[in-house]
Amino acid sequence: MFQTFLIKYGEIAIKGKNRHLFEDALVSQICHALKRVEGEFHVYKEQGRIYIDCSPEYDYDETVEALQKVFGIVGICPVMKCEDGGVQKLGDDVVEFLRQTYDRHDQSFKVFTRRPKKSFPIDSMEANAELGGRILDAFPDMRVDVHEPELQLYVEIRDEIFIYSKIIPGPGGMPVGTNGRAMLLLSGGIDSPVAGYMISKRGVCLDAVYFHAPPYTSERAKQKVIDLAKIISAYTGPIRLFVVNFTDIQLYIYDKCPHDELTIIMRRYMMRIAEHFAGETKAHALVTGESLGQVASQTMQSLAATNEVCTVPVFRPLIGFDKQEIVDIAQKIDTFETSILPFEDCCTIFVAKHPVTKPNINVIKHSETKLAEKIDELMQTAIGTTEVIRIE
Ligand code: ATP
Ligand code: MG
Repeated sequence: MFQTFLIKYGEIAIKGKNRHLFEDALVSQICHALKRVEGEFHVYKEQGRIYIDCSPEYDYDETVEALQKVFGIVGICPVMKCEDGGVQKLGDDVVEFLRQTYDRHDQSFKVFTRRPKKSFPIDSMEANAELGGRILDAFPDMRVDVHEPELQLYVEIRDEIFIYSKIIPGPGGMPVGTNGRAMLLLSGGIDSPVAGYMISKRGVCLDAVYFHAPPYTSERAKQKVIDLAKIISAYTGPIRLFVVNFTDIQLYIYDKCPHDELTIIMRRYMMRIAEHFAGETKAHALVTGESLGQVASQTMQSLAATNEVCTVPVFRPLIGFDKQEIVDIAQKIDTFETSILPFEDCCTIFVAKHPVTKPNINVIKHSETKLAEKIDELMQTAIGTTEVIRIE
């Protein structure tokens, strides 16, 4: 019976001229999300609202699930749309709506009518009273409760009549595309997919870079990163995944630099290469899954040392999160099960037994001078041989 959805979005963020940008981006993200769903959909803006009309054979559950991944949506309301046939018919439609939507008819309720169509014979207060009466006549076990109703029935009298009572929560945030583009350093772990999700939630388009080190890391480890990118792309929209072969750089660092500094120096080269691709994609920032104090390479000093090679801002949305909080989000967005698959990671293979936890930037810079002979060439080769995978 629900052939239409009314989409609610946060009003506060979108005063003034941003409103159009926000709404257009939201419409385009909704269209994109619904491409994966059975059925035909017509998404449109009307009088400051977004509606979706669905073809008869559409899949309700899949549609709701897809919409729950579109940032910017606060509420998803399945709507019954009826023709305006006057007061008597409006009452019939409301009773029919309750009959079809609910199995039980013994709850307390309140009617909220809005009447943008001023030519309708009664105003919204009169409609509330009239419809309340009609509901009580049809369902004697229901009762009015204006303070804490179990069921809130919304009736909007426009050129057509819209009736709904469910507001399914959306993910909130801002539509992807309203806040620029960023480059996510995506590993196969738990944290970085969550970091990408969180930045994207603020309206940011994402691309991603993954450093792999064949033969030390396997094809299956790479596939896991591709799978994670696919899962988060349901929220972020299309992602270009840059797969960088990092082996020669890692081996060279391993050969030339003190082993307790390996992680930091490797990190610095990852950031440099990520920044190169950020430039290519016109990204304004890098994003990582780092969280303060989680491991040796995530102390304040280590973060400062990796940051130091970047000229664009590095966003670390998980910086203040405990592991469990990150895991909770990973489970919510469905990346957790994939993230915990046990494949090796290039950082754990070349890791020192006792890494420095408080690197001194000058010491690190000095160690990097030992790479002078070949590092530029290795970086160029790594960049030049990078594989780009389009995740739709
Ligand atoms: P994650 O769970 O995201 O793998 P982690 O807890 O394992 O993070 P680190 O290994 O210190 O932490 O990595 C910190 C961040 O550096 C990651 O969140 C990710 O953004 C980036 N990173 C680490 N390894 C890689 C890699 N092989 N490719 C791309 N980015 C990486
Ligand atoms: Mg990791």
